[in-house]
This record gives sequence, C-alpha cells and structure tokens, in this order.
Amino acid sequence: MSDKRETLGFQTEVRQLLQLMIHSLYSNKEIFLRELISNASDAADKLRFEALASPELLADDTELGISIEVDKEKRTLSVTDNGIGMSRDELIDNLGTIAKSGTAEFLQQMTGDKQHDAHLIGQFGVGFYSAFIVADKVSVETRRAGLDKDAGARWESAGEGEFTIEDIEREDRGTRVTLHLKEDQAEFAESFRIDSLIRKYSDHIGFPVSLTAIGEDDAEAKVVNSATALWTRSRSEVTEDEYKEFYKHLSHDFADPLIWSHNRVEGKREYTSLLYIPAAAPFDMWNREAPRGLKLYVQRVFIMDDAEQFLPLYLRFVKGVVDSSDLPLNVSRELLQQNPDLSAMRSALTRRVLDMLKKIAAEKDDYQKFWGEFGQVLKEGLVEDHANKDKLAKLLRFATTHNGNETQDQSLDDYLGRMQDDQDKIYYILAETHATAVASPHLEQLRSRGMEVLLLTDRIDAWLAESLAEYEGKTLVDVAREVLDIPEEGDDKAQEDLNKEHKKFLEKVQGVLSERVEAVNVSRRLVDSPACVVASDQDLNPQVRRMLEASGQELPESKPILEINIEHPLVTRLSGETDEGRFNALSNIVLDHALLAEGSQLPNPAEYVRRVNAFLLNTDDGVKSE
Ligand code: ADP
Ligand code: MG
Repeated sequence: MSDKRETLGFQTEVRQLLQLMIHSLYSNKEIFLRELISNASDAADKLRFEALASPELLADDTELGISIEVDKEKRTLSVTDNGIGMSRDELIDNLGTIAKSGTAEFLQQMTGDKQHDAHLIGQFGVGFYSAFIVADKVSVETRRAGLDKDAGARWESAGEGEFTIEDIEREDRGTRVTLHLKEDQAEFAESFRIDSLIRKYSDHIGFPVSLTAIGEDDAEAKVVNSATALWTRSRSEVTEDEYKEFYKHLSHDFADPLIWSHNRVEGKREYTSLLYIPAAAPFDMWNREAPRGLKLYVQRVFIMDDAEQFLPLYLRFVKGVVDSSDLPLNVSRELLQQNPDLSAMRSALTRRVLDMLKKIAAEKDDYQKFWGEFGQVLKEGLVEDHANKDKLAKLLRFATTHNGNETQDQSLDDYLGRMQDDQDKIYYILAETHATAVASPHLEQLRSRGMEVLLLTDRIDAWLAESLAEYEGKTLVDVAREVLDIPEEGDDKAQEDLNKEHKKFLEKVQGVLSERVEAVNVSRRLVDSPACVVASDQDLNPQVRRMLEASGQELPESKPILEINIEHPLVTRLSGETDEGRFNALSNIVLDHALLAEGSQLPNPAEYVRRVNAFLLNTDDGVKSE
C-alpha cells in the first residue's frame, strides 16, 4: 500500500545547510553515525518518558533498543529504533525544516573555508542531515507510537532540493533510517568498520545497540555497546576518551570539552551530575531565546532537554546531565520550578562549575581560551549572582595599562600585587574602545605615578564595576568621576585650594560655557592634556549614558564638569587672552577636545570645525564675539 505520494521542497535553510555540510565535513564524515544513533536514542528516551503516563504506548514491545544493519552487496546501512516514531506531519516538519532559531544568521557566518565552516557547523549541530555526507539517497520509514499500523510514513530524498513523502503500512512502531551509500563510501557497509564506530561513538548510550551484517558468514545481531548510561558508572571506570565522546554526543560539538566534573551526591538529596565546559561558544550564545540548560533524567529515565532551572543564566554555556533520584517522574518545567529541592541543587551545581573554572584558571593558556569565548557571559554573574561574588571576582580577567594591549588576561590579584605603596584604590576607566581608553586624558596623572588602571571596554563593564564595587577591601574607582581619589604627593594642593587660587579665571570660563558644563575645576588628574570632562558623583557615567541613549532611552539632560590643566600652555594662553571673541572660541574648543578625547559626540560639529579653522588660519573670522 502506498498512496498520497507527495514531492515537497526543503526549506531554503535546509538546502543551504546540506550543501555546506557535504562540502565542509568531508573529513569528519563518520560523525553521521553518531548523529543517527543519537536520534534513535533520543526517540527511545522520549517514548520511555511518554510511557510513564501512557504505558499502553509500549504495547508488548517493551525492550527499547537500536539495531544497525549493514549490507555490503546493496551498499546500504540502516539504523532502526523502536522509540517514539513520527507521524506524517512530524516527518515533514522534522526532516524538511530546521526549527533552530538563528539559523539564517548562522548560515551567513559561513565563509567557504573548510576548516572554519566545519568548526561552525560543529557548534550548530548537523544532526540528521549529516547522512547525506555519505549517502546519495536516504529513506526514512516510521510510525508514531500509539498510531495504527497503516499510519506509517516514508520520507525519501537525494539531499538535493526536495523530498518525497508517502503513507505506508508499518508493522513496528519507531523509525528506520536507511542510507544508500555513495559509491566511494562502501566502507560504511563493512561490519568491522561500523562495529568500531559504534564502540567509539555510542558505547555510553543507555540502550543496547546491536549490529547485523547481512550476507556475512556470521549474520546474527550482536550487541556492540556496553549499554549503560555513562554517568551511572563510577568515575574510576570511565576513561578520558569516554568522557569526551559523551560530551560530543550531548552537545554535537566536534571539539573536546575544556574540562568536566562528574559527581554523585548522596544523603538527603540524591543525584548525579556530569557537567562540561565547552572549548568554544555556541553560535547562538547571545540569542536570549536559544535553548540552554542540562539534560534532566529522573532515575535514569529521560525527562527533558534544556532544563534551564539547574544553573543561572550566566552559566548558560555549560552542557551536561543531571539524574535525580528524588524528583517525581512526572515533573514538568513548572513543577520543577516549584520544587523545594531545586534551589539547593542549583547552588550546588553552580558551585561545581565555579570550582571547575577555578581549576582551569590555574592553567593560564587554557583559561585564556575560556575567557576569550565566555568571559563576557561570565561577567554577567557579578551582576546576577551576589552569593558567589567573591569566587567570580577571582575569575575575572582584564586588559590594563600594565599589559599594554587589548588582551584581557590580568586578574584582580595581579593588579593588587602591583599596587603602589600609597595606593589603596583600584582604578578603572570605561570607554567604548581600547584605543580611547588608553589615550584618555583621565589616566595621565595615574600613569605618571605608575598606578595601574583597568581598561573596561565591554558593554557590560559599567554594570560589572558597579556590582563589584570593591575587591579584597579595595574600592573600585572610576577615573572619570568628579572626585578622583589619588593619594596626595609632596607639595600637592587640595582641589579646593586650587579652585580658590584660580577662582576668577574659572568663573570666566564657566560664564562662557554655562550652557554646556555644570562647573569648571582645576584638574589634579592631567599631565599632558589641556582638559578633560568628568561626571559628578550623582550622574550616570558617560559610557553608560551613551549606551542607554543608543538603546532608545530618554534620559534627563546632564552637564559634565570641565577640568582644566592649569599648567598647560593652551590654558595659559586662554587665561592671557584679552579678546572676548577669542576667549569664547578657545574655551569652547578646549571643551570640545575634552569631549572628543573621551569618545563623545560633539553637539555641533560644524560649529567646532568653523572655530578651529578660524584659529588655524589665524583670522578673526568666526571667533568674533556674538
Ligand atoms: P536534533 O536531534 O538536534 O533535534 P536532527 O537533525 O538530528 O536534530 O533531527 C531532527 C528531528 O527529527 C529531531 O528533533 C526529531 O524530532 C526527528 N527525528 C530524527 N530522527 C528520529 C528518530 N529516529 N525517531 C524519531 N524522531 C526523529
Ligand atoms: Mg539529532
């Protein structure tokens, strides 16, 4: 029986992905088997879960498993499971489209460079379509558990633009995927080859995987894997390679993880966790809707993917499994949220991850890799997770005026170790770019005294600095604030005395700039620059203000404070200027330059250019008093 045969087109993204995948994954082609076995095992997991509520779904076929058949003569390989199966509609949706959000953006990142693309595709997870790396035709026959025999469906495609779908009668529930191997891929119809691939990729799967070689002398089905879920074994029995393979199975990543932690907790709450830190960030790390979280099992029964309740958002890059002995088998996302054990488990798992990070932090090279990938996400922890503030602070890395480049590789402890004897603050500057930060006039005095400054240029840094506030009893100080606490030196004069001494001059400048600045002060932080602007202590940092404004927020007007370097020749010239027009123009130029130096936009660039040009031409044009 076969009716309603339809030919349908793949979603555009599928077509693109297929092309790219076949091209860039050729050297990794054997991973298709891992993907198909992993789908079969997911299908068995899902059925076992649904059968908790509807045991009749299992009928008399209660032993869940996966069987693989190879046929050398026909050059075929098939992977069959007796799991959940798919209805006709599910088949069309699941194998004709890609549901992952951000797929289009992901595809745009592809360059055509094999290595680069293979790495990206690895993070994306190739799944079912990887079958087309080795097959020129794939056929999927399936029936959903609980549906009648004649509700089966067959999907077939050559992996080009389209696939066909038809209704079939199917005796067994579950799915059979058959690969018609390309002529030069006959090796995947050899039983010894497949045998070793199953051992390599799928040994840890909690269902038996059997292999049958049709046409070979010994054509009996043999169970090839050890069929115990890896995390249920004791740590000493699991090899490094097995841990790594399990990670790849979980995450679909091609690369090895950086580190993992496998623990069994006994006592009041009993659960096992196996947590991994990947070596590279997933393509959708910045997509807030992207699924994240651990795979949840209860007493070995798979319950759900992406259980995000077990770790805070800032640890969303962690992959792994939790298997609880206490949670009810019918736990849903909502029930999980209300479970009284959840928050204790969440704190314990968070601590485990932070301990792993502490371990890699001891290996500078590894940690730099981690920081480069995930540092910005981890910074969110300072804002979100006050309970672990101290642990997180030790894990932070910064670019500073000490290392002289953009690399974020200095810890706060490194900073403390280099503090001057008379220094009791940790100084930082917020800027949009590294170049602006390094060149900022605000650093001059500190630099001349050999005091180090953290250069903060990530979007989240303003919140980070505010949440952190202090480290090991040392306050963090923004160098662009009105009150800059630099220890006084020798014949240093206090700010107030300096202002008093130059009162007349300051008032005159203030008079000219009254629309643009809150106040004019003599600066103690400048050495080489004529002026800089600072924010009063009640005001938003200009960096934060720019960010909020860019995101469309309306903020109350606020004027900065202008600080001038009273010893600078330009300022000397200004104070000696007798022509009112020139005095006004020069005052404005000094302020404009201070704004430009901190990366701000000028309110009226054309007027600024006119003023400067007039000065350069040394004419009175354009600098006349208004
Ligand atoms: P993923 O497994 O990451 O979701 P895949 O491309 O591997 O992506 O598979 C796509 C979807 O097809 C799966 O999510 C699942 O719904 C369905 N699927 C694939 N293989 C099977 C199978 N053997 N049994 C049931 N459903 C399957
Ligand atoms: Mg899959």
